[in-house]
Amino acid sequence: MVTADEIRSVSIFSDLGPAECERLARTAADIRLQAGEYAIHAGDERALYAVLEGRLETIGVVDGIARVVGGRAAGDLVGEVPIAFGTPFPLGFRAAEQTRLLRLSAQDYHALVAAVPAVGVKLGALARDRIGGLQGITADRPPPRALVLGERWDPACAQLRRFLDRNQVTFTWITPDTPEAAEHFGEPLPEELPVVRIVDGHWTLPRPEHRRVAELLGLTTHPRAREYDAVIVGAGPAGLAAAVYGASEGLRTIVVEREAPGGQAGTSSRIENYLGFPSGVSGDELASRALEQARRLGAEILVTRSVSAIDPSTRELHLDGGDALTAQTIILACGVSWRQLPIEGFDRLIGKGVAYGAARSGRRTCTGSTSTSWAPATQPGRLRSSSPHTRAA
Ligand SMILES: Cc1cc2nc3c(=O)[nH]c(=O)nc-3n(C[C@H](O)[C@H](O)[C@H](O)COP(=O)(O)OP(=O)(O)OC[C@H]3O[C@@H](n4cnc5c(N)ncnc54)[C@H](O)[C@@H]3O)c2cc1C
Repeated sequence: MVTADEIRSVSIFSDLGPAECERLARTAADIRLQAGEYAIHAGDERALYAVLEGRLETIGVVDGIARVVGGRAAGDLVGEVPIAFGTPFPLGFRAAEQTRLLRLSAQDYHALVAAVPAVGVKLGALARDRIGGLQGITADRPPPRALVLGERWDPACAQLRRFLDRNQVTFTWITPDTPEAAEHFGEPLPEELPVVRIVDGHWTLPRPEHRRVAELLGLTTHPRAREYDAVIVGAGPAGLAAAVYGASEGLRTIVVEREAPGGQAGTSSRIENYLGFPSGVSGDELASRALEQARRLGAEILVTRSVSAIDPSTRELHLDGGDALTAQTIILACGVSWRQLPIEGFDRLIGKGVAYGAARSGRRTCTGSTSTSWAPATQPGRLRSSSPHTRAA
């Protein structure tokens, strides 16, 4: 249990009288964490914490990878900005070593401020200072992790960029015809394109396999275990939702995705009909939020791996490239494969930035006439359509 002396050692409580410190000591939760355990996840509801012993790391998710962007030592407060502005936590906090925290719920904090307004004034001043630090973190974008050199209309280059985008990897793309291309690339331009350079390790890969790129970028491509409670095939919205529910129930859950998380929804610029997003949400954002949620709850997400065979009698799944997994439950969330137009030249045009889509209703309206629905790509190679269901001409 937190003691009255420990309450008084927290800067904003230093002026409280003995009775108030005793009352707060009875109200505050005493939280003990091992190194690596999270005290707070980004998006958690507001509350006020103080570090009593040990140290917390501030965690921001950059390029889909959790990174340490700051820290809090013994005596520091955590949560003054969410408390002051009524917002959820913008960043996560995890213990860097054995750590002890006190936690005050938002209601208990406001009850205290009603009795002792000076506490609110002190907290407001700390929150203002902290906002400056948060702005620094947001402005301090990390340098791109990859450099892509490739032709604008080359489908392999478009696929590579889409792959990096969907795995939330920041990258710079240059085309060989830009004047400063060689200078940017740092060596004579190779003939075989596209090329990706992984900035961290200085690897340069011509016409790379996506799995190799994923490995060099530190994305998860191999399962950590052989047995799982739930194996989910496909990381579209259905697969990620299954992963969230499985992992949140404490099941050992893994998602196997042959490309990148998000599925078809990841390519939509605006989804208006997803529950809980009254103003709509981009497919990218929906996918990255779902991915973060699934990972936070403990689901393992493999990318660039396909499930190539399943033996229903043993519930064994075989992955391309050799790994095998067993599962209590297998969930197939593989989405659909689109039927392709049986016309000459289709393969040549696919991925060049023009898309066609029409819903059943559109087909009925257009029966007997020639009609096309175009979704011009606002970024080369990226499909930019609010929905194929709504764009039938
Ligand atoms: C441009 C666009 C806009 C859209 N807009 C809307 C909208 O506004 N509203 C709406 O309701 N719907 C919209 N949709 C449809 C919506 O995206 C889909 O209904 C939804 O994504 C289906 O989700 P899913 O998880 O079932 O499958 P998918 O999203 O298709 O995901 C399946 C995943 O499984 C993976 N996979 C398949 N086989 C394997 C295997 N053997 N091994 C490993 N992985 C595998 C695939 O790579 C894929 O990532 C849109 C679709 C597109 C393309």
